[in-house]
Amino acid sequence: MTAKYSGGCSHVHVTSAAEPIDNHECHCNVCKSVTKQHTTHVAFFNYGDLKVDHAEKIKRVPFNADNPGGPLEICLCTECNSVLMLDDKQRRIRVAVPNVMGYDTDKFPKATYHAFWDESKGYPRPSDGRPVYAGLRPDFAWPAGS
Ligand SMILES: [Zn+2]
Ligand SMILES: [Zn+2]
Repeated sequence: MTAKYSGGCSHVHVTSAAEPIDNHECHCNVCKSVTKQHTTHVAFFNYGDLKVDHAEKIKRVPFNADNPGGPLEICLCTECNSVLMLDDKQRRIRVAVPNVMGYDTDKFPKATYHAFWDESKGYPRPSDGRPVYAGLRPDFAWPAGS
């Protein structure tokens, strides 16, 4: 099985042989605060598709500092502090942020839409031709947890 996507650091490798199930440009305030980027390219994978080779070298912090009991956790390498992935306590998805988590961004498919944009952002609605939604795309269905 060949990895189509590989990220992580030199200690913990994060790979997927499958395509992401959702691929968006995120305008949400949590991503803005965590990545310090205006928008963040976010890819969701089915939980079982994004694999890590050294789970024992991972430490976890809440993704949303304002909601520490929320389902998503940022996974960091215990040796070098690299950000590896977001993990879902409910085991539905795992999340890659290609330009932050060590992926080859040239090979990563471009985000297909804009998520979590609304007028409260205080900047214009994106006009690059991709759909713009106030949340995730309406037809996105969360996989069942495991
Ligand atoms: Zn976001
Ligand atoms: Zn590392």
